[in-house]
Amino acid sequence: MNIDPVCGMEITNKENAETFEYNGKTYYFCSSHCLNQFLSVLITLTSEINKSENDYYLRLMK
Ligand SMILES: [Zn+2]
Repeated sequence: MNIDPVCGMEITNKENAETFEYNGKTYYFCSSHCLNQFLSVLITLTSEINKSENDYYLRLMK
């Protein structure tokens, strides 16, 4: 089962899903909007600007 880590939607149709590989894991997104949101968070994660949001997304990504 693949869950969109941004909106929590279950991805049932992988052919139409947006995907992104990070740390050897493939993440699925319902739309490019969610993918872009995820990417902007990743940038935040790597620059370590917003700690509380980092913790939230790091939990989701385990
Ligand atoms: Zn989504």
